[in-house]
Amino acid sequence: MSASSADLQLARYSFKRKLDEIAAARGRATEMVSLYVSPGKQISDVMGYLRNEYAQSSNIKSRTTRKNVMWAIESLMNRVRQYKEPPANGVAFFVGNKAVGADKTDPVTFIVEPPEPLNTYLYRCDSTFFLDPLQSMVHEPEMWGLIVMDRAEVTLGLLRGKRIEPLRNRQSLVPSKHGRGGQSAHRFERMIEHAAHEFFVKCGEMANELFLPKKDLLKGILLGGPGATKEYFYKETYLHYELQQKIVQPLFDVGYTDEYGLRELVERATQTLHGLELTEEKRIIQQLLGEIRKAEAGLAAYGERDVLAALAAGAVDTLLVSEGLRRRHVTIRCPTCGNEFERTAPDDEVDKILAAPCPKCGSNAITLVRSADYVEELFEKATSSSASVRMISSESEEGEMLAKAFGGVAALLRYPWVRPAAAAPRAA
Ligand code: ZN
Repeated sequence: MSASSADLQLARYSFKRKLDEIAAARGRATEMVSLYVSPGKQISDVMGYLRNEYAQSSNIKSRTTRKNVMWAIESLMNRVRQYKEPPANGVAFFVGNKAVGADKTDPVTFIVEPPEPLNTYLYRCDSTFFLDPLQSMVHEPEMWGLIVMDRAEVTLGLLRGKRIEPLRNRQSLVPSKHGRGGQSAHRFERMIEHAAHEFFVKCGEMANELFLPKKDLLKGILLGGPGATKEYFYKETYLHYELQQKIVQPLFDVGYTDEYGLRELVERATQTLHGLELTEEKRIIQQLLGEIRKAEAGLAAYGERDVLAALAAGAVDTLLVSEGLRRRHVTIRCPTCGNEFERTAPDDEVDKILAAPCPKCGSNAITLVRSADYVEELFEKATSSSASVRMISSESEEGEMLAKAFGGVAALLRYPWVRPAAAAPRAA
């Protein structure tokens, strides 16, 4: 897996995580303001709209709610004013006072530039932030190469998310096998085979030209068509070897080799693909378990401490992270004795750590120095040691095992590696 694929996975993870955080912010009343500005919207129009909402909100009966809503809109106007025009994909603002504990609130502001263009302009004031337009973007738009072919025609295209983009279509000059009387049947047969070969070479070249530059982004290539031509094309490796490896098995039987054939191919493949993804996850966790079971020199590490140490040693080949892992890495300082220490903890337990006394002097006044996203840090460490990263869903039993039994983190290693402290003492 390449670095750009790791970047994509990280971007997707960070986006999801941010949405979770925004979704968790709840107001004590209808006072959480969401504003979606689509690309191309005039900022002056948005400001006009906000000024009007501001004026309206002075009629809100509850004094606290009124104060909070007016604060939110004012704060929004300050943010929006800083834009000359919306960013390429538009921008979403979330401003409000989130409830913390019985009667405390904390002002929060989130600004999100979405990974795909927003097609909504929307203002909403509610007790939670409105996230539907962004939630629909959480799923990384996967990209697949598409080829439908027989001896007469080939069509190549891309599947991005749910959108099919036809890229190229070509008819072959291969004569039909039937209805050519007079010529020597043997010679004619050879001529057909030669023409077919030339056509397959051309198909391979077109696929290389269209797909090789995108090879790191392609999850795979779906190959289909009527009859046995697709199997022949696959077996005779007309594609560049890096594309050849990406061809999804099985090949798909479809009736057409034009744009309609591309649609047919995607329909056929959709049921198979989700299954394949899960199978691949199962396979990789099974491989991990196999390594862990080995009595010695297994190529695996699991649990936070060992995985971090293996990453630091550059021993990690593939880092496996549970998709649902939500953890922070915090640095804490005690001003009384100067003690500084680090902890990692689930998001919702960070407050508990801060409420505990200093482990060294017992002072109750410890402070947070730094708080970082644990998974983002893992990705950074993996990328800097050229390890690849795989997010594992918990849809399969194996995925769930990674989340529960291994704390959501494990690694396949490049070479057998043992944490130094646990190494057996050398015989005298
Ligand atoms: Zn202390």
